[in-house]
Amino acid sequence: MKKEIFGLTPEELQQEFVAAGLKKFRASQVYQWLYKKCVFKFEEMHNLSKADITVLNEKFTVMPANINILTRWKSSDGLTEKLLLELQDGNSLETVLMHHDYGYSVCVSSQVGCAMACAFCASGLNGCVRNLTSAEIIMQVYLFNSMIAPQQVSRVVVMGSGEPMLNYDEVTGALKFLHREDTAFMSYRNMTVSTCGIIPGIERLAEENIPINLAVSLHAVKDDVRTQLMPVNKGFPFPSVIAAAEKYARASGRQVTYEYILIKDKNDSPEDAQLLSNYLKFKHASVNLIPANPVPEKGFERPPAKRIEGFLRILQKNKINATIRKEMGKDINAACGQLRAKFNDNK
Ligand code: SF4
Repeated sequence: MKKEIFGLTPEELQQEFVAAGLKKFRASQVYQWLYKKCVFKFEEMHNLSKADITVLNEKFTVMPANINILTRWKSSDGLTEKLLLELQDGNSLETVLMHHDYGYSVCVSSQVGCAMACAFCASGLNGCVRNLTSAEIIMQVYLFNSMIAPQQVSRVVVMGSGEPMLNYDEVTGALKFLHREDTAFMSYRNMTVSTCGIIPGIERLAEENIPINLAVSLHAVKDDVRTQLMPVNKGFPFPSVIAAAEKYARASGRQVTYEYILIKDKNDSPEDAQLLSNYLKFKHASVNLIPANPVPEKGFERPPAKRIEGFLRILQKNKINATIRKEMGKDINAACGQLRAKFNDNK
């Protein structure tokens, strides 16, 4: 069986190449092609000898060269692109590229499916199939890098399918890899991990002092409503999640972002806004309000614009740093899990 080399460190790559009878320096050449030039086929690496290309093709594979793109969707404004990818084991995952004023960001998935079963999310419909490897997470960024070359992705948000804190080692391994000077050289400040509130993961992140941005999906501040929207609230009640996130904010010096989907008549009242303010007052925190995409089967509707603005005003009056999220890619189902769910339905 061929050995997968995507995501190996230079030292690991060198070991593999030497064991295959190749010269040491070939490892640094191939490493450069992969992570600086985004070339994934050995035959396109022009400084390799024909004999070495033959050996490489016999013994090794490079994940991005073998990934099947099942669907490629671009939003009508051209700013958002979503890929549905078929992994080598036949599973599929979604990944999204967004073009902002400041550059490109990618929203990566961390698991195939998700076990968290949030009521508003298609990723949790069939549970978690498996964790992604760090190479599969890095690959999502590099696929887009090869498409937009010579530009490159400058930000990563781990906010696609899956709960990253339940795949902690592979997710942080991927982020550390992308931070390396000899790969994407991406600053930790440009990386965000979004959790539904897995406290041990938040605590570990604080202990390990990896200064990335933390986002917490909060979405409700009444216990029964949050449990209904996010069953994880039963195991990790949100006041304890906020306490753990605040510890992370103090330890890292990075402000925590709380995501809050506004759903009509569920969590969008002035009382909710005041409660949210009370919980976050004096915290190193900001709030990202996300007007819900209507899901008629679940009775979810978007609140009227006036109600959304009123909610925002209450937060601001309480000196909570809050914004309403700019929507991107709505016409291509860019919300997590939607495309994969559709694909699985049609299989
Ligand atoms: S919102 Fe996130 S944590 Fe919740 S089911 Fe979807 S992917 Fe999982």
